[in-house]
Amino acid sequence: MPRCYHCGERFDDLYKCDKCNQYYCYLHKDPINHECNIVKASLELQYSSNEPSHDYLNSHNQSSTNYAENISSTHQQQPNYQSSYSESSEIRGTTDGTFTWYRRESNIPDNAFSPNSGIEFKGILLPYKPEFLHLLIGSVLIYIIGLMGFYNPQNQQLLNDLGFGWIIFMVAGFYTTAFLFHEFGHRQVAIHFGLQTKFRLLKFGMIITAFGLLMGLISIASGVQGLPGLALPGAVVVLGLDKIDKKTGLCKAAGPTVNLIYGSILFAVSFLISIFPINLFIGMAASINFMLGLFNLIPIGILDGENIFKWNKKVYFFLVISMLILIIINYISIYLPPASNPYYI
Ligand SMILES: [Zn+2]
Ligand SMILES: [Zn+2]
Ligand SMILES: [Zn+2]
Repeated sequence: MPRCYHCGERFDDLYKCDKCNQYYCYLHKDPINHECNIVKASLELQYSSNEPSHDYLNSHNQSSTNYAENISSTHQQQPNYQSSYSESSEIRGTTDGTFTWYRRESNIPDNAFSPNSGIEFKGILLPYKPEFLHLLIGSVLIYIIGLMGFYNPQNQQLLNDLGFGWIIFMVAGFYTTAFLFHEFGHRQVAIHFGLQTKFRLLKFGMIITAFGLLMGLISIASGVQGLPGLALPGAVVVLGLDKIDKKTGLCKAAGPTVNLIYGSILFAVSFLISIFPINLFIGMAASINFMLGLFNLIPIGILDGENIFKWNKKVYFFLVISMLILIIINYISIYLPPASNPYYI
């Protein structure tokens, strides 16, 4: 029975992808679900490294073995299914800035994140630097974007007059922790399942973040306040989530669930604190969490939503509906006129 090129599971029916010419199961048949660009790139690289003329230049011995492998694989009955398990493949797995990296667990070496594992992390910035450095850089960038996004000259003047000018630093701190705790949710659940995982800065995410920084600078310079720029410098990369099952579903659902819990706690605390405007801004910090959670639940490829939706519709709709209800109550509380606003004491 043929195997899916992505998850390695055996299926009766496979679908061919016209872009990379490999065969996939129904779950991985769309290019976005099998990291099509990476498959194409790694097949091209594999092909060029297997060319006898090229290998001849390097070492004669090596060339003959590679050549033999090349011959044997092209003469197999089903070369398309077999080629993924060829040991000669240079790139055993890569991530292209998608938030989770899928590959059969059995293909992952124990030291996947170390330089000599044979895995090339294409979409990752500084791939062999410690996780702490990645977290530090990511957090600082998010904090700066948060500060710029929440800065508004008139509001800041009002806050300064009230003696609460520092509050913007608190809000940016909540913005940063909303992101960090979300990522730690994914990370801790993956560790619980014994999967290899690390927070990594992603090249694509850093481009988005650089754009967010630029937008922040423009809005401050022009005096026009925009929304906080999108800050997505990195994400938790989990190795070995091979198919959409409970393990994958829980790893994915952990991020938005953390935002739901963290947001709910902040929302409750905002009513317990009786100092205006600290209470109001903690209420806003709750909405940051609900927004972040909802954004990640959008059911498209690289966000958490798609795989939660495919895994368990009840969990998916529970998360979406509870966060929608909370964000509506939250917005009403924040934007009620002062006379009836619970925060204006
Ligand atoms: Zn598959
Ligand atoms: Zn493809
Ligand atoms: Zn997430």
